[in-house]
Amino acid sequence: MSAVNISLQPRPAVDASVDHAIQAILSGASTAETCNTDLGAGPWTFDSRPGYGPGSSMGDVIPTGSPRQGELPQEYRDATEAELEARIIAAKAALGDRVVVLGHFYQREEVVRHADYVGDSFQLANAALEHPDAEAIVFCGVHFMAETADLLSRPEQSVILPNLAAGCSMADMADIDQVEECWEQLEEVYGDMDAVDAEGLVPVVPVTYMNSSAAIKGFVGRHGGIVCTSSNARTVLEWAFARGRRVLFFPDQHLGRNTAKTMGVPLEQMPMWNPRKPFGGSDATTLADARVILWHGFCSVHRRFTVDQIDKARAEHPGVRVIVHPECPMEVVDAADESGSTDYIRKAIEAATEPTTFAIGTEVNLVQRLAAQHPQHEIFCLDPVVCPCSTMYRIHPGYLAWVLERLVAGEVVNRITVPADVADPARVALERMLAAKPPAAPAAAWENAS
Ligand code: SF4
Repeated sequence: MSAVNISLQPRPAVDASVDHAIQAILSGASTAETCNTDLGAGPWTFDSRPGYGPGSSMGDVIPTGSPRQGELPQEYRDATEAELEARIIAAKAALGDRVVVLGHFYQREEVVRHADYVGDSFQLANAALEHPDAEAIVFCGVHFMAETADLLSRPEQSVILPNLAAGCSMADMADIDQVEECWEQLEEVYGDMDAVDAEGLVPVVPVTYMNSSAAIKGFVGRHGGIVCTSSNARTVLEWAFARGRRVLFFPDQHLGRNTAKTMGVPLEQMPMWNPRKPFGGSDATTLADARVILWHGFCSVHRRFTVDQIDKARAEHPGVRVIVHPECPMEVVDAADESGSTDYIRKAIEAATEPTTFAIGTEVNLVQRLAAQHPQHEIFCLDPVVCPCSTMYRIHPGYLAWVLERLVAGEVVNRITVPADVADPARVALERMLAAKPPAAPAAAWENAS
């Protein structure tokens, strides 16, 4: 799709803060919509309640036993945005190189502005590696990301998640007990999972998306599998098909389906595995023919995007360039001009030399920040309803100020530690991903596995 030439007049400045947009909606100053008026409150309001809290995942079922956050001291709940800003800056200055603050792309602007690094989960875990002397890594993201940083950091380093209730509803959809049970059932169907056939392939290679718990990464590492990101999913599937007859992909069905489809895997050979049904809800013939078994997981942020939104964007903005994340449903990815990871989206916008209109299908905090950073372009979120990720939203500047000031006082709070028996195989799965290279002829590995 070619870029559209739009007015070269300077655009009005875009406020990068989604919090401000929500406050404007709640005060009546903006006519836009938000998915939940509770988003105007501090997340400590929800820490004692069950569920994921307001935002995109509020309809999802949170597993029992999910980490809860203790009460945030009153002084942080009462502080204004400016007071918290000043306290965070002062605490960071006092800590100096002893701390590294990492901010995920989907974090609110009021948190991201204090981050030493901003990126996706894997970029941030790698950023932690560049600071082996930092005593503490404060990860402003969600639980699985802090676990990954703990896997890759030195044992003496503390990885801190400012709010323990910042999980990820998609990662929670693949529970380790359910995955172990799935594997046992697949063994009944395929026999010995370590046995290779005449072509040197095992029956199933497990592949997990980075957005999964350390326990799932450990499972994958123990069973000859590998981790993938949304940037390298195709390369990782090629790796897996060079070793196995089929792939068990979790937790995100959409990333698995969208990636395998581009590799030519027919949809009928991608059955869904519903962990609440015997054999995932598939019959023996379907499982025998399967090439990619898709776990029944999804991201509630990316599931909000629809083909209707794309049609509307095209009708209202002729020439608009539509880019969506591959966690979106297949029909949305198919209807978009392009799909790619958060980093792909960011780079695509940076690379546009002509003023362009972009409709973006990913989390609203990133979209709003990109719009503010690139005033020469018109950039908007495909979803007109302001509905951030429920769990990313749990990280508020109040929590960041609290964990940093506790560090200044010599106390580590909210440390995330992965036990060694999980960490060792999980690192193996991550190392396989780092070593996986795109094959010279991309189609060959898949064809060999047919
Ligand atoms: S955006 Fe989706 S995958 Fe990312 S943390 Fe939120 S729920 Fe999880």
